[in-house]
Amino acid sequence: MIPDEPLHIEQVVVHHVRLPMRAPFVTAWGAQRQRDVILVEAVAAGAGEGLAGWGEAPVLAQPAYNEETVATAWHILNDFLVPLVLRTAIADPRDIHGRLAAFHGHSMAKAAVEGAVWDLWAKRSGRPLRELLGGTSVRVPAGAVVGVQDDTAALLRQVEAKLAQGYRRVKLKVHPGRDVSVIKAVRDEFGDIPLAADANGAYGVEDLPALQALDAFGLAMIEQPLPWDDFLGHAHVQEHLKTPISLDETIATVGHARQALALGSGRIVNIKPGRLGGLAPALAVHDVCRAARVPVWCGGLLETGVGRAHNVALASLPGFLLPGDLAPPGEYLVEDIVEPPLILDRDGFVPVPDGPGIGVAVRRDRLAAYTVRRAVHRAGK
Ligand code: MG
Repeated sequence: MIPDEPLHIEQVVVHHVRLPMRAPFVTAWGAQRQRDVILVEAVAAGAGEGLAGWGEAPVLAQPAYNEETVATAWHILNDFLVPLVLRTAIADPRDIHGRLAAFHGHSMAKAAVEGAVWDLWAKRSGRPLRELLGGTSVRVPAGAVVGVQDDTAALLRQVEAKLAQGYRRVKLKVHPGRDVSVIKAVRDEFGDIPLAADANGAYGVEDLPALQALDAFGLAMIEQPLPWDDFLGHAHVQEHLKTPISLDETIATVGHARQALALGSGRIVNIKPGRLGGLAPALAVHDVCRAARVPVWCGGLLETGVGRAHNVALASLPGFLLPGDLAPPGEYLVEDIVEPPLILDRDGFVPVPDGPGIGVAVRRDRLAAYTVRRAVHRAGK
């Protein structure tokens, strides 16, 4: 074990990987058949030399969830973010987010490099990331997400399969015209299961009656009914809705969380390190929400095992009171890139890896097989 002396990073490798998906994942924005993400590998110099930490930018195929794509993350990481972490000593992984805040936006790219530093820091000290973050749970409850389906029978079969696996909540993607019918079909078939809906911002304030119609179904939450920047609209809708609103896209910064809670824009917050720019801002949002007695849960962005292991460690913190979108990546990727694989236990929980750092290792053979391009940065060059 190495004491927490300043960390010097010798080398950073930015990997663009493309992984085939088991089935297209359909949202309001279209179908995704392969998963392109950026992985960042940070290698320590001096004490801890040779150890590698990993982080992930879980960019989606289109700049629809946020502004990022694989091309923007590649550009921002290689041209701006990576040089910042190579240049100086790191006294605490919590400092990285502030250092990267010199540049606006691009949270997923920031989360990749910030996450790699956290993992490396934890590995160097021989401690699980969970412990470093202040996590207390050794396993975390997982919910399942069922994408948009044209065919209700197919949707019901998917829900049935997720329940049989033990998932502790089912979340359905909804949009105007495909909401009550979907929720009602699932309620009629499966009764009083823990059920949630995610609209990914597909409604407007004028759609309040359509959202109120969902109140009859006892949903655990309606996630992100309105567009991401509509804090006041969400506050108005929440005031007229019994179902708690859970905010996802709206909370892109810690400041957004404070504003949303002050305005009453929602009663639950979804935390994703990728959306917030890393683990440090994710911890800060957790703390803000916990102080306000607002439950949080960990969302997902179809991460590989690298990003998902970070999320699972984060979700072990005490404010994470609701099941997270923490399905093992083997559920949606033909082959995950890490070992040992993350798993779902019979009770619908994901055990938090207890090895040093994120507790899972990137398999070099799979990394090589799925790499589209890579860029190597060395300190002092
Ligand atoms: Mg969401």
